[in-house]
Formats: sequence, structure tokens, C-alpha cells
Amino acid sequence: MELTSSRTHLVAALLAALAFVVVLALVGDLVGTSVERTIIVFLVSLTAISAMGLYSGNSGILSFGHLSFMGVGAYVSALLTLPTHIKEATLPALPGWLASTGLGLWPATLVAVLVTMAVAVVVGLAIWRLEGSAATIATLALLIITHGILIGWRDVTRGAQTFFGVPRDTTIWVAAIGCFVALIISRLYRDSAWGLRLRAGRENATAAASVGISVPRERFIALVLSAGLMALSGALIAHFLGAFSPKKFYFTDTFFLLAMLIVGGMTTVSGPVLGAAVVTLITEILRRLEGGLDLGFMEVPQVFGTTQIGIGVLILLALMHRKDGLAGMKEWEEWLIPTRRAAVNPKPLSPAESAPVIAENVTRRFGGLLATNKVSLTVRPGEILGLIGPNGSGKTTLLNQISGVLPPSSGKISRGEQDLLKLPSHKFADAGIARTFQNIRLFPTLTVYQNIQVAALSSKGGRDAAARVAGALQWLGLEAVAETDAGTLSYGDQRRVEIARALVCQPSLIFLDEPAAGMNREETDALMDILRRINTDLGIGILLVDHDLALINALCHRIAVLNEGRMIAEGTPEEVRSDPAVIEAYLGTFTKQSTVPT
Ligand code: ADP
Ligand code: MG
Repeated sequence: MELTSSRTHLVAALLAALAFVVVLALVGDLVGTSVERTIIVFLVSLTAISAMGLYSGNSGILSFGHLSFMGVGAYVSALLTLPTHIKEATLPALPGWLASTGLGLWPATLVAVLVTMAVAVVVGLAIWRLEGSAATIATLALLIITHGILIGWRDVTRGAQTFFGVPRDTTIWVAAIGCFVALIISRLYRDSAWGLRLRAGRENATAAASVGISVPRERFIALVLSAGLMALSGALIAHFLGAFSPKKFYFTDTFFLLAMLIVGGMTTVSGPVLGAAVVTLITEILRRLEGGLDLGFMEVPQVFGTTQIGIGVLILLALMHRKDGLAGMKEWEEWLIPTRRAAVNPKPLSPAESAPVIAENVTRRFGGLLATNKVSLTVRPGEILGLIGPNGSGKTTLLNQISGVLPPSSGKISRGEQDLLKLPSHKFADAGIARTFQNIRLFPTLTVYQNIQVAALSSKGGRDAAARVAGALQWLGLEAVAETDAGTLSYGDQRRVEIARALVCQPSLIFLDEPAAGMNREETDALMDILRRINTDLGIGILLVDHDLALINALCHRIAVLNEGRMIAEGTPEEVRSDPAVIEAYLGTFTKQSTVPT
């Protein structure tokens, strides 16, 4: 697993996590009694929500189902540690091998983690394709199904009855170790290539696929890892309580843990820490109020549900005022310590493949509209091909089809021996085809560097990623803004980041959909120069869609013209300029504007 951020940040995060849990454990250990219990519950909750954050924060999919994994972890570990004489008395129907097992807490936890991860593999495969709210609903279904199984499987779980007699081995130090492990794993995951890819997918799934990321695969990995950590928290809580029933792993606790996650912010690891602290403090205060209060001059009556209502209000306040939670989108150390990256030699980004992409009779219907109508086009590496046409003539639709974003209604698209229509969209980058989008699709909360890095890590097997990123930054002149969040840049800069991100995949063909849109004349001229050099110096073929006829005329070796979904002309700029059909489609504007020097 390759780590993507600076070592300084990670070391700072690890040390802070270590100091945090040690101090808490020491305090609990010294003070004892109810404070110690509160801190243990806090540590276990933090274990659970950093696990939930690992999945939900990085994927952007809120999960209501994670307590299922906690429940499975709790029951599996407890079944393994439960003394045999208690098993005989309370679970007489247990299979012989299980009835006679008596493991210690750590081995039992390890088995529980592995079993739960196996369950998560099945769940993950089942929800592979689901995203957004569909995935969230699926997690809710998981919670209900698991609860049903825990209740129904009486021979093993005692059903709705209390499962008791579990050795109370979760001391405050055990909880501290578990929590530390969860914090570290979720922090390392966030900065791993996996985590960065999943975060990119969260920000823009289409763009992520275009640079080689299989978002479903990344979600799956996150789900299995986070399920393992949920199982750890389950084992800890089981061996803290000693007795529990399936309702411990159902809606009420889901609500409290999600509250912590939402209040703190789920896209970082600092977020769960803050959220758990705030919610635990407020819960403790409200719980005291709930029992009624004597203020001296008046008696506050007992109000049931104060805690739940209070936490509900807290969630609302958090959502209204800090949508991303108290911690926001960055770790504390990312705010405080500037990123310094080791200097690497930039790598030239020359392509490997040489076969052209051939589209034949590509047709795409939208209802009754033929957005592209039997269009044939050959895009050759080495040349710059301009694609022009009035608004709505089908340029973007054609580009989407030959880059795997949109399946054609009929037609053939191939490259050499390869049938591109059979290729999933995230495999196009490795087939040597990269692109940018008409409506810019960056990963806005990732830095410019990370935007390009995640593409480098996801293409060409991630080889020479750092050198390729350096090369792409240099080519587009983006070194100065490398550590800036991409979403905060001007449109002109964002477009250049998009081109750098495409270039870093080392494509033999780049498709650019109106790359100069939103740029002023100066920026456009600079871009033209860059595109020309990408073509001549690197030998990369470019398919350039643009309205700017001066740009197209100045750059392109060949021009193809679309009108109302049909290809009406194709040839050298001179041929196209004098084509009567083209002149008619453009009502003369094309010939007028083409007097710009070429
Ligand atoms: P261009 O890029 O040349 O301006 P487009 O390819 O975006 O044109 O659009 C071609 C036609 O297809 C337009 O009439 C547009 O309204 C229609 N179209 C494009 N995308 C969709 C879509 N996703 N759903 C329905 N209609 C679409
Ligand atoms: Mg378009």
C-alpha cells in the first residue's frame, strides 16, 4: 500500500493519536469509577466512528448499516471467549466445536475481525454497483437483516434475550489500544492510494473513471476494512459490558454514533475525535438534566428523551452551520504543517501505443433526437484533429462515446485489435485515451497535486507516479499552485489542471472538450502553445473540440465538422474552410473568422 502524503503529516498524526489515547487512559486509570467507564465507552465509540468514517467519509456514502458489523464482531468474539460452563447453561444447542472453544480476548477479537470482514465481502459484492442514496438505503437494509438474524438465531445468540457471562476483559488500556489501532488504520487508509482514489471518486465519479479508477472496487475495499474495525469495536464493547442483546447494535446506537460522525465531520480522522468528544460531553450533561434538577429556586422536572432530543438538535445545528463537521475537510496537521514533497526528476510523458481510434457509424439517441447520427471518425496519435460544429451538434456526445463515458445506441468503436465498446470506462486511461470535460470535472477538495497524483497512481500500474506528476505539473506550469485546493482556482487554471491530470496518464490520445472556455485571450494563447508542444514534443495526438475557430485553425492538422448530429465535412483546414456545406452550417461565420492568421 503506497502512501500519498508527506511523511511529516503522518508522523504528526500518529504521535498525536498516541498521545491522545495514552492521556485519556491515564486519566481514566487514575480517576477510576464512572469517569473511567465514560472514557472506555468514549474510546470504543471513537473506534467505531473512525471505522464508519473510513467508509462513509472517503466514499461519501452515509452508512446506517455499520452497527451490523459491530454486532457480528461482538457476538463472534463473545462466543469464542465465553467460559464453557456458561455456554453449557445458556446455549445448550451450540455446535460441539464452538461449545468447547475458550479463547482469550485478543485471539477471539482477531477471529471476529476476520469473520466480519468475510461477511463484508459478501455485502460489498452485493452492493457493488450501488452509489449515493441507493447505497445508503442498502446499508439500512443490512442493519435490519442483521438484527433479524441475531434475534432469530436463538441457538447461537440467545435471540432477543440477554447474552451474558462474557468476560469483562476490556480494561481502559485495552480500549485505548483498540482505539489507537482504529485511528491509525483509518488515517493511513485515508492517505493510501486506495483512500485517495476513493476520495476522488466521491468528488467526481465520471472524472475518477476517466483517469483509471474503478470506484466500485475502491468502495468495496473501504467497506471490508471498515467492517474489520467495526468488529474490533464490537469485541471491545462486548467485553466491556459483559452482557448485551441485539438491540445494542440497532437504531439507538446507530443514531448516537452517526451524530458523533456528522458533528465532527467524517472526511478526516480528526473529525471523529472532535465529534466523539463533543457528543460525549453533551450527552453526559443532558443525561444529568434528564433525571430532573433542583436549581434551588425552582425544580426542573424529569423529562425523558432529553438526551436524544439534544443530540438531534446538535446534528441539525452542525448540518446548518458546518456542513462538513467541526473538523472540515482537512486534518489538523494538514492545516498547520505546510506540505513539503521530496524533489523528483520530472518524467517526459511520451505515449506507448500508436494505433488510431476508429469510430464507425456511431449513433446515439436521446428519445427521438439523434445526437450523433452514423458518425465515423478516425483519431490518430501524432496529429491534432479539430472537431467543430454549432452548439448542440453532437460534439460532446461523440467525445463521450469514444472515451467510454456514454455507450452508443449503435455503431463500432475500436483501437487496433481492441473493441473499445467492451472496455469499462476506467480502463480507457490504460488504453492510452485520456480526456477533459466541457463542464470542468476536477476533484475540488483535493489539492492540485493530489488531483494529478491520483491519476498517476491509477494509470500505468502507478509506475513512476511521482516523476510523472512532476512532469505534468511542469508541462502545464502548475508548480506554484500544486498545494492549492483545485476547486478554489480560476477556471483557466482549473482547465490546465484537468489537462495535466489527463497528461499524467501518459496517453497517446487526449480528447479536450472546449479547453479554452472561460479563458481570456492571453490564457488561450498560452494554452495553444502548450497543446502544440504536447503534440510536437511528446508525440501525443489531440482531439480538440472548440468554438474558437482561430484556435482550431491555428492548431489542427485536420478538422471534422458536425452539424445536427451528422459529420458534414472532414479534411485539412483549407479543404474544410471552402466546403459549401460547412459555410452553410456556419452561415458564413467560419470563413470570416478564419482570416485570423494560421
Ligand atoms: P455539443 O457538444 O456539440 O454542443 P452535445 O453533444 O452536448 O452538443 O448535444 C447534442 C444534442 O444531444 C443536443 O441536442 C443535446 O440537447 C442532446 N443531449 C446531449 N446530452 C444529452 C443527454 N444526456 N440527455 C438528453 N439529451 C442530450
Ligand atoms: Mg459540447
